[in-house]
Amino acid sequence: MSLHLTDVTLTYPDGDSRLTALDRVSLRVPQGSVTAVVGPSGSGKSSLLAVAATLVAPDAGTVTVDGVTTSGLSRGELTALRRRSIGVVFQQPHLLPSLTAVEQLQVMAGTGGRGPRRARERAMALLDAVGLAAQARRRPHQLSGGQRQRVGIARALMNDPTVLLVDEPTSALDHARGAAVVDLLTRLTHQRAAATVLVTHDRTHLAAVDRVVEVRDGRLRPGGTG
Ligand code: ADP
Ligand code: MG
Repeated sequence: MSLHLTDVTLTYPDGDSRLTALDRVSLRVPQGSVTAVVGPSGSGKSSLLAVAATLVAPDAGTVTVDGVTTSGLSRGELTALRRRSIGVVFQQPHLLPSLTAVEQLQVMAGTGGRGPRRARERAMALLDAVGLAAQARRRPHQLSGGQRQRVGIARALMNDPTVLLVDEPTSALDHARGAAVVDLLTRLTHQRAAATVLVTHDRTHLAAVDRVVEVRDGRLRPGGTG
């Protein structure tokens, strides 16, 4: 099991009390599958991803990534685990304005022990996989919104993560482009045997994913089909 959340509870300070963002959430995501997490704004979706990404430690419960349970790991060990095993795609891809598409990917490679030439080859192969081989030398302002999001996806795959966490990748895209991004993520997940969590408040794109769960007020429940 590549990603395994067990009884995760997360609270935030809220005035004099605490707000429960995640309430005993358990989620298992097998390799080679996409689990979509749907729910309204404020239901806890991004909090769930932040915990799964080991960026936020839960108040209670455990997170296991690639066989490693994260509680008790040092900051440095968590950073190494993230680099080795976790790819994250944010709502906005946050590309660096001065870098070309292929360079956005190459800057991720510093940690994998690959030489610059191998890193560039890998970056080009990933851009090809997301349909952007011809745009490799373009900078962000020369790309469309959908193309930028696909660069963000390719970048997240640069270190060959076993866990891929994706937060509302379609929110800035029209329906056709959003559906294409979800289809692409699903195809890449199956090809690369990643364990993918795709968070979205939009159910209309979810025909291709393997499982849908719903989060409401921090609690997870089966979500039926998209
Ligand atoms: P979603 O991604 O589904 O919109 P979030 O996980 O961002 O939901 O938020 C869940 C709840 O936690 C909301 O009530 C939100 O206001 C609250 N929340 C999120 N992040 C923080 C934070 N850093 N500090 C305090 N409250 C937060
Ligand atoms: Mg969110």
